[in-house]
Amino acid sequence: MKQVEEFLTGRIWLRHFIPFPKEQIDRAILNGSVTTRFGITDEKQCIRCLEHSLQKIVPFYCEACQQICHYCRHCIKMGRISSCTELITWALPSTNLLQSHSFNWTGNLTPLQQRASHEVQKSISQKNDHLIYAVCGAGKTELLFPPIFEALKIGLRICLAAPRTDVVLELTPRLRAAFPNTIIHSLYGNAPEELGFAQLVVTTTHQLYRFENAFDVMIVDEADAFPYSYDIALKRAVVKAKKKEAPIVYVSATPSTELLKQVAHVSKLFKRFHGYPLPIPKFQSLWRYDKTFAKGQLPKKLTVWVDEKIDKKEPFLLFFPTIELIEQAIDIFKRKYPALEAVYSQDADRKEKVMKLRQKEIPGLITSTILERGITIPNVQVAVIGADEAIFDAAALIQISGRVGRSSEYPDGEIIFFHNGITRQMDKAKKMIISYNGGL
Ligand SMILES: [Zn+2]
Ligand SMILES: [Zn+2]
Repeated sequence: MKQVEEFLTGRIWLRHFIPFPKEQIDRAILNGSVTTRFGITDEKQCIRCLEHSLQKIVPFYCEACQQICHYCRHCIKMGRISSCTELITWALPSTNLLQSHSFNWTGNLTPLQQRASHEVQKSISQKNDHLIYAVCGAGKTELLFPPIFEALKIGLRICLAAPRTDVVLELTPRLRAAFPNTIIHSLYGNAPEELGFAQLVVTTTHQLYRFENAFDVMIVDEADAFPYSYDIALKRAVVKAKKKEAPIVYVSATPSTELLKQVAHVSKLFKRFHGYPLPIPKFQSLWRYDKTFAKGQLPKKLTVWVDEKIDKKEPFLLFFPTIELIEQAIDIFKRKYPALEAVYSQDADRKEKVMKLRQKEIPGLITSTILERGITIPNVQVAVIGADEAIFDAAALIQISGRVGRSSEYPDGEIIFFHNGITRQMDKAKKMIISYNGGL
């Protein structure tokens, strides 16, 4: 029964998909250690994702209960939840013992990181929400280590939620290295099921639907990032997954004005950990680049830029606004530069291709905004093609610019916005980067 407790504490799980024998769960329900609830409430709200709009909670004829049931469209990818689906949770107070943790990190925090680290720790102990407003490359993950360790030691359960699987995959090994004795679960779509009670959980915001009243500290990484910033349901999931009094620590390079207003305790880190300023984007016109690609040609200015990077053996990323344009452009690029590769969100080989670029097996990558965060490639040079397109808002452009000059060996590099006319968002991105460098 201990295993069931460890697994189910703070979780909300489909009864028929639990990784334990049916009899064991039946017994736990009978003796009151596990409670069961139906998936959709009488008020037609999904218990798991809290969705309640008429468009998302829809009626259907249900084979299981031979009548009209409602199911939730919103979280259906995680297994269908309907009015007669049973969801189970651990009902008793946790008896999970205080675990011992060790902290195995030999890096140093800069004075700025150290101050922010203390401030976060103070907010956590006082149960205040906190915002870490840090430029790309400020070393925001490392400054979280000491407060996470302090919280682990006193038995708090911590969640680090990130918007995307890539970010979760990047963070997990770093946390496992820093806290070698801690059970850490890493959750994302199709991740292998892990048993045991994880006092530290690294997860995509989507997987938070499967938690309830679970965490004493909730850290939301890249709080500005799609899809979190646009999805009310995910915000609700963050609140549902944590305990009522638990503080939220938001981490963002480009917080919305709403978030800045909402959170009173803010640590600002407008300097990169290596102390060098952020590279400032250059603007260059690339008139009617889409027509040029449509004719099966490469825009001249773009080939000049790419040739230069290849000559200097500098790895580069070319960001494109749409997948259609990437698909069109990669064939044309490959005729002149056969080693170039393209990546986008549906690409199963994404990780391998990024690895190839890092190891200099390929000169550059053509990409969608999928690579705007979470990746670090030493000495990478970056161009945005069609920086005037709506998908590249100021926040996205700042993130993309933040890929450049991250390592201390190569603190500088080129970031160029190729455009069809300068937009307000481009101007805003550039102004904000300049203001960070000024330390405003
Ligand atoms: Zn749902
Ligand atoms: Zn039914």
